[in-house]
Amino acid sequence: MSRASTSGASSSGPDIHEHLRWGWANVDLGAVRHNIAELRAAVAPAEVWAVVKADGYGHGAVAVARAARSAGATGLCVALVHEGVGLRAAGIDGPVLVLSEQPPLQLPDALAADLTLTVASRVGVEAVAVAVKGRAAPGSDAPGRGVHLKVDTGMHRVGCAPSDAVELAGLVLSSGLRLDGVFTHLAVADDPDDPFTEAQLERFDAVLADLRSAGIDPGLVHAANSAGALAHPPARYTLVRAGIATYGISPGSGVDPYAGALRPALSFCSRVSVVRRIAAGDRISYGLRHRFAVDTTVAVVPLGYADGVPRRSFECGVEVLIAGRRRSMVGTVTMDQLMVDVGDDPVHVGDEVVLIGRQGDQNISATEWADRLGTIGYEIVCGISSRVPRIVGDVPPT
Ligand SMILES: *Cc1c(COP(=O)(O)O)cnc(C)c1O
Repeated sequence: MSRASTSGASSSGPDIHEHLRWGWANVDLGAVRHNIAELRAAVAPAEVWAVVKADGYGHGAVAVARAARSAGATGLCVALVHEGVGLRAAGIDGPVLVLSEQPPLQLPDALAADLTLTVASRVGVEAVAVAVKGRAAPGSDAPGRGVHLKVDTGMHRVGCAPSDAVELAGLVLSSGLRLDGVFTHLAVADDPDDPFTEAQLERFDAVLADLRSAGIDPGLVHAANSAGALAHPPARYTLVRAGIATYGISPGSGVDPYAGALRPALSFCSRVSVVRRIAAGDRISYGLRHRFAVDTTVAVVPLGYADGVPRRSFECGVEVLIAGRRRSMVGTVTMDQLMVDVGDDPVHVGDEVVLIGRQGDQNISATEWADRLGTIGYEIVCGISSRVPRIVGDVPPT
């Protein structure tokens, strides 16, 4: 197995990961740019804002943000102030929206980094207004600061009641702030047959109509996550907030038909660290939960649950690729290592192991892991821990 064919070119040297450890994630920025271009084509004339919270869903927020912006994403979204501050520290410009209200003590940092704050309550508006005044030079008028108002149309997580939206928007304006946007969030957009999305959009449209009849311009209007952007044209409004689709992962099986052109950006790789023969009847790993029926060879892979391979992967039937073949994990995944049954194949220390991604004509996706583990692809890629170096580059399509 050639190294270059699967680990891809890297901006920091082809084999830099060899110096770190035998466990790494390749992040293909070409795929990110491709996905943003696909999304833009799908939702035009709406804009695409790339959601890069949680370190870009585990892909590396700064690299993904740069790639997304270069491919025409007009803005970025984050969950936390420090995530937005990190983008600015890396020199990334353009709008960066923090998607929910934040602790008051963090607002000065957010303002200093020119992040766009979300408000969804009276105390939230007041806190932003206080922070803005605190930054203004004594005697000067506080500079106009734009915020986005979040409205809860049924997700019941973050957002003001629809009936409070006009009053809160008025408070934004009377507090010396600008209303730059109004948004909501969809709860079931990944199931295109669920009528609740339409009900949410109707409530949202009613809020927009109320604001306009009160003489308030809502600014940028947005509702769609990736699933909404792909599968619900009426949810696109001025812009869509594309997270998982940016990374080339389908938001859910119901949206697969709309997500086919996306390319996964992340692969998760390792190398065999130990090879040993095991006799029939022997058992393996903590709890000795797997007994071998026949003599076989076991390959040890130096990645474990501290790297983001869930401990229950063996019970759930997660497979890996070695020498272009699917192989089963055997025994409980440990903190730093897992074991794979490779039968009687000649496998050697140093052979490449692909946990997520392509090897030869086989492919294992984050979604396949998620299906086996009873979760969603989001949790798999976000779960690859900071102990796994990200090798960021441009891998040509195969
Ligand atoms: C995380 C998040 C998104 C992105 O959702 P995806 O399904 O990953 O596209 C959009 N909007 C809000 C408010 C979010 O919290």
